[in-house]
Amino acid sequence: MKKMILRFWDFKTIVFALFIFSFNFSYSQNRNYAQFLIDTLSSKTFSGRGYVNNGDQKAAQFIATQFNKLGLKAFENSDYMHNFTFPVVVFSKKCKVKIDGKTLLEGKDYLINPSSPSINKKLKIKPINKDSRLPSKHNVALLYDTSYKFSKNELKMTDDYKLRISLQKKLTWSVSTSVDKNSSISILKSSMPDNSRKIKINIKSKIKKHNASNVIGYVEGKEIKDTFIVITAHFDHLGMLGKAIFPGANDNASGTAMMIDLANYFTKNPCKYSIAFMAFAAEEPGLIGSKHYTDNPYDNLPLNKIKFLVNLDLMGSGEKGMAVVNATVFQDYFNKLQNINNEKKYLPEFKVRGKAANSDHYWFTERGVKCFFFYLMGSYNHYHDIYDNSENLKLGNFYDKAFLLIRDFILSV
Ligand SMILES: [Zn+2]
Repeated sequence: MKKMILRFWDFKTIVFALFIFSFNFSYSQNRNYAQFLIDTLSSKTFSGRGYVNNGDQKAAQFIATQFNKLGLKAFENSDYMHNFTFPVVVFSKKCKVKIDGKTLLEGKDYLINPSSPSINKKLKIKPINKDSRLPSKHNVALLYDTSYKFSKNELKMTDDYKLRISLQKKLTWSVSTSVDKNSSISILKSSMPDNSRKIKINIKSKIKKHNASNVIGYVEGKEIKDTFIVITAHFDHLGMLGKAIFPGANDNASGTAMMIDLANYFTKNPCKYSIAFMAFAAEEPGLIGSKHYTDNPYDNLPLNKIKFLVNLDLMGSGEKGMAVVNATVFQDYFNKLQNINNEKKYLPEFKVRGKAANSDHYWFTERGVKCFFFYLMGSYNHYHDIYDNSENLKLGNFYDKAFLLIRDFILSV
C-alpha cells in the first residue's frame, strides 16, 4: 500500500514537472486570466470603479493583490500604492426623473450631466426648435434635440433656465471635477414620451474630496536595471449614477487586464531592461492619476529613465486593427511596430495618429517621454454606458494577437 502510494506520487510529480516545463517553455498570453480580470473588475463589487462605494479603491486593492501574486516589486516600500487626492462630483443613490407621470430609469433612459448641480423641481417643458424662440420665463425646462443648432448668443442664454434637457440617440456619460451653474440632463430620444409637458426631477450632487491610488510595480531587468520600459493602463471608470452601474469592461478593464497579463509574462521572462507596470486611477475625470505621476515620480523611476512607454486603453476588440497615437511623432518606433506586424501578420491594419490628449500617455509625451497609446478597433461599440459590461465583452483571437504584437514590440525597443 505504502509503495503504491509512493509510486502514485512519483508519477504525479513527473506529470506535474512536465506540465510546468511545457508551460514555461511555451508560455505567452493567458486569455482566460485576462477575461477573469475583466469579469472581476467590471463586476458589481467594484461599483463601476468610480466614486461610489469606494469602487476605485477596491479595484486598486485588487490590482495590488494581483501584482503581489505575480511577484512584482514595489517602489519605496509603497505596497504598490501611489496616492493622491482630487475633487470629484458624486451623485446620491436616489435619483428621480418623471415625465408626465412616467418614471425614467437612470443610465437606461436618461443621464444627468456629470457637472450638474442638485435639482429638486417640478417644471413645465418648453420645446425649442427652429420655429420657437427661447421662452421669456426662466423657471422652465428647455427641451431640445441635439440636431438643433443654437446661435452662440442663444447657447449662452440657455444657461439661465432651471433645467436643460437634450434628446440623444445614444447616452454617453463621463465624470466631472467641478459643478456648473445650472442643471442639465440627457434623455434617450426613444424613451421620451411624445408631446411631453411636465418634468419632476430630484437629483442630488456634491463635490467630494476623493483619495485615489495609482498602482505601480516592476520586474527588474536582467542587464540594465535602472532603465525602464513602462506599460500603463487606467483602471478607473465612471462609477454609478443612482442605481445604474457603469461597468467599463472595455474602458478600461480590458487594458488593465492586458497590462497585468503582460506583467504575468514578463515576471516569468524578464528582459534586458526593467519593466514597470502602472495602473492609473482618475483617468476619466481628466488624466489626473497619470499627471500626478509625471509631477511626482518615484526617485528610482524618474521620467528620464523611461526608455519607452506603452499605454493601453480599450483593448477588448481588434477586428479593425489598432490605432497608434503618437505614430507620426515617433516614426522610428512606428516602423519597428510595422515591421513586426508585417512579418508576423498579427493585426489587419494600423490607424496612424499624431499627438492626442485622449489617455494617460499624454502627460508623458508632454514631458519628453517617448511613448505610444494603443487602442484596438472593432465592432464593439458600448462606450461610457451601462452596456459596456463583461457579458458583452468576450476576448477572442484578437486579444492574443494584440498581446503578442505588443510583447514583441516591447522586446524590440
Ligand atoms: Zn473612458
